[in-house]
Amino acid sequence: MAVLIGVTSETKVVPRAGRDAPASVIAMYYLEAIRRAGGTPVVVPPGPPDFIYGLASRLDGLVLSGGGDIDPARYDREAIEQVYGVDESRDTTELAMVDAALSLNMPTLAICRGMQVVNVALGGTLIQDIATERPDSLVHWAPDTQFDRHQPVTVDSKAELASVLGSSEVKVNSIHHQAVDRLGDGLGAVAWAEDGIIEAVAYEGEWPLLAVQWHPERLFMEDSASAALFDGLVARALANRDAR
Ligand code: MN
Repeated sequence: MAVLIGVTSETKVVPRAGRDAPASVIAMYYLEAIRRAGGTPVVVPPGPPDFIYGLASRLDGLVLSGGGDIDPARYDREAIEQVYGVDESRDTTELAMVDAALSLNMPTLAICRGMQVVNVALGGTLIQDIATERPDSLVHWAPDTQFDRHQPVTVDSKAELASVLGSSEVKVNSIHHQAVDRLGDGLGAVAWAEDGIIEAVAYEGEWPLLAVQWHPERLFMEDSASAALFDGLVARALANRDAR
């Protein structure tokens, strides 16, 4: 029986039969990475919390995908001008999804914005723009090299993430301008770039969470450590399904 992995999406206006229409959009990289790992991807459209809780109860695992910025009001900050792509309905959807995943102990892989959503859902805050608020940092917004592993990241060797990746020293891509600032309740940092920017977090309770600031869905074709994140998610989702 299929292992159903929900993957959150964004709303984008796309051309349809000569007339633009809003659509739920997710880059195929995510869907292919889930399929390669043996999972069946289920695209999660935006919706109110009761819809999300109902859907979550039918899923075996979850990918929180990358995208634009979370409204800083969600963590009690005034937006600075570098904040872009805020989508209130996506925020509502994904914050509810984290709440559901946490209460169901649903295995979750949170990627880039996804990791930031988890942090905000658990009461943490974000650096709104690394270049503005941490000007001595490395360049983390590097879309031109999104398929290259160029940024060294050190993983806490005791963290589960290190065993999933098979190493505590990895090189990753970097396509983010925001980062975790104050950690949310129950979260601990488990990986850092050379400038101290948090590149992964773990949850200290039972919820099986893998959360990375980089984009393994753009690397898994060439990189076994990136593929292993999706393998780890699907293996946990299978165990989760069989335990229910
Ligand atoms: Mn980075």
